[in-house]
Amino acid sequence: MNFFKKYKQQFYFHILLNVIVGFFITLSSYYHIPLSGFKDYSIYFIHFLLLQFSFFGILYFISVNKYVFYSLFPLLFTILSFFGFYKYTLDLSITKSMVESIFQTSLLVTVELITLPFVGFILFIGLVLFLIFKQYRKIKINQLKSPLTLLAILGVATYFFVENYRYNTFKSRLPYVAFNSFIEFFQEDDIHLLPIDTKVTSDVNDVNFVFILGESVRADHIQLNGYSRNTSPKLSQRANIISYPNIYTSLTYTVASVKQLLTNQSIDDVVKSNNVFSLFSVLNAVNYKTSWIGNSTIVKSYAPIIRSNQNVQLIDKFRSIMSFNKALDEKMLQPFDSILKTKKNQFITLHMVGSHWWYENRYSSEFRKFTPVIDSKHIPSLAPQQIINSYDNTLLYLDNFIDTVISSVEKTHTKSIVMYVSDHGEILGEEGKWLHAQESEASKNPAMIVWYSDEFKSSYPELVLALEDNKNKQFSTDFFYHSILDLFRVQNFEYDKNKSVFRKN
Ligand SMILES: [Zn+2]
Repeated sequence: MNFFKKYKQQFYFHILLNVIVGFFITLSSYYHIPLSGFKDYSIYFIHFLLLQFSFFGILYFISVNKYVFYSLFPLLFTILSFFGFYKYTLDLSITKSMVESIFQTSLLVTVELITLPFVGFILFIGLVLFLIFKQYRKIKINQLKSPLTLLAILGVATYFFVENYRYNTFKSRLPYVAFNSFIEFFQEDDIHLLPIDTKVTSDVNDVNFVFILGESVRADHIQLNGYSRNTSPKLSQRANIISYPNIYTSLTYTVASVKQLLTNQSIDDVVKSNNVFSLFSVLNAVNYKTSWIGNSTIVKSYAPIIRSNQNVQLIDKFRSIMSFNKALDEKMLQPFDSILKTKKNQFITLHMVGSHWWYENRYSSEFRKFTPVIDSKHIPSLAPQQIINSYDNTLLYLDNFIDTVISSVEKTHTKSIVMYVSDHGEILGEEGKWLHAQESEASKNPAMIVWYSDEFKSSYPELVLALEDNKNKQFSTDFFYHSILDLFRVQNFEYDKNKSVFRKN
């Protein structure tokens, strides 16, 4: 009896602390996850409890010393509660971009933030902190000697166990995602872009190029490549369209494949060098106007490459690809149309969220043609056909997206190419696996589709012939960088013409 009496106040304090922190912060990461059925809810509730248990360990050690606790906890709790508040209300994830904007926001804007609801929230947080401190003062024992210390060590260890078992399980959620975003903000970029020699020139300066960088689209689910379902109703009605069914990449992670696509790096490089040429740097040097419009998350492995565009516009940049309220890719079309009108010699990239999981958030309801669709984020409780239906609906959305881009380009009556390349494929049940970023041949065959304008064909008939001729050949995704430089006939700069799809080999 004495044992419990001795530690009673300490137990009460940690229960109170974790209930409050759990409610204000940790639970917010689960609020927007679509789930269906008791089993799904139970699994994610256990997930939440484990995440909170790991954070209990950290909070415990902060609470051991009262000076540390009184100075550190209010700051930590207030900041994390704000992130929790935005996660609950707007599904805003804390990303490096968000941390950047916090640091860039001038004092004036900060003052404008002080609205009545904001003041109310601050007062509420103050009240909650008062309650926590009141209970904290009742602890009269040396906490380190308490049996709870062992539990706290186990809590901290849980974080490492789980992250080791499945990377990003805890790291991508509050509270940890906040720490990681701050760390990322202060970290150096992964890659260093090499400067381009001023002697570089180009012999072609009258072509507009629109590059649609796709996400998680596998070639064999495209109707143009012979898929049994009509996933490309619009593109299959078009002239001047070529689909390439045999593109290969060994890089099935966005962070690796996007970096490789946009630089001179090869999928065959045994050691992936961090000193690379950005395709955009070369294009800038030969007087192409480079623009990047992105709806996907920017990660540091390729952030400097994106920044090597002359014009960068990010859509919905505070919501990561993990958010369930992420903007649809069609949000890129309006800025795209206004850029397209401005000038010739353009190289415009549209970076899609595409067919990234969770598929139901990637398309609008008019494209919900294949049913039933997925209704839970928990894959084991879904029927395989539900997942494939939702995935194929994202391809209908893609078909419409590419078709709309082509229509805009068509109206300019310029010598133009629209090229769609997905960063990698997707696993749809092969060997019992789903999604990507794991070892499977199914995710190594990304979709690639090219459209050329009549004006382009008249001026460069031999290039169109080469495009047709190469249709069924196997290319690694290395083709992209070398094909672009070959198309623009870049001189005094090294690249491999044998990898170009604009050349008959
Ligand atoms: Zn990807």
